[in-house]
Amino acid sequence: MSILHALPPCLLHRPDTRAKHNLQRVYPNGQGSYDEVVKNIPRWLEQFPKSSTKVTISSDDIPYIKESVLHLWGLGIKEVNINVVFEDVWKPGDDERFEDQLVGLADEIIEKKLYETYSCSFFSKMLGYPYRDNNNWCGAGKMLAVDHLGNFYPCVRFLGFSLQNRTALVLGNCFDGIDRNRLRSFLTLDMVSQSPAECIDCDVAMGCAWCQGANYDCADTATIFQRATYLCKMHKARVRANNYFWNKLGRKLGKDLRAESSGDGPGTC
Ligand code: SF4
Repeated sequence: MSILHALPPCLLHRPDTRAKHNLQRVYPNGQGSYDEVVKNIPRWLEQFPKSSTKVTISSDDIPYIKESVLHLWGLGIKEVNINVVFEDVWKPGDDERFEDQLVGLADEIIEKKLYETYSCSFFSKMLGYPYRDNNNWCGAGKMLAVDHLGNFYPCVRFLGFSLQNRTALVLGNCFDGIDRNRLRSFLTLDMVSQSPAECIDCDVAMGCAWCQGANYDCADTATIFQRATYLCKMHKARVRANNYFWNKLGRKLGKDLRAESSGDGPGTC
């Protein structure tokens, strides 16, 4: 059966989000890549039917969030993993516009029963509680990146082209190996060692992510132990929309869905 035949009517012929894709994904000549990517999706899903995709949202993308998720589901991709960029690109009012988009998406998911088949990681039962552990969110130091000269970096976000304010942070190279002394600070990172008190005590901290490379780039000194918190308002907006989603879905299904989240693992929609 073709992918289109399996789609519910509400996802058929959604307006495309070419403009959103082409805001960021362009060829060197500036031309957007949407048409070429979309053309190949049916073949990709034929070969890998359970594939998921990843969406990243920046400030200019906010008006397209709801339609982007519905469009991707309409293309046959059932699992959409999505998050906001870690860079400080946010403008006043972005958090409210973000929340509006997520609430609109939540309404559509619940009204059309899309939760039965599709998932979007913006909605998670585990989101918005105080921290339950002291783990580092980010895997920098445990996912080495290697450049064309054979230099090792804690992750791709520590290469020079990823950084605005600092020079690249090299951990070694393929000739001499890893400098364990430089790696040590990454292996000691945890939540408390880099977070301000307001984050350690935050009531909605679960799911509030950070990027070690962005932290390093924005810190007052060249340290990885200073957490950047400019995503605070965006996370709180997501938490409010997430609460709206689970409360509304729970009322519809006659269950307290958040109470079910006390088990292991994330409950996502
Ligand atoms: S950045 Fe804001 S929302 Fe995130 S943990 Fe810190 S205080 Fe809480």
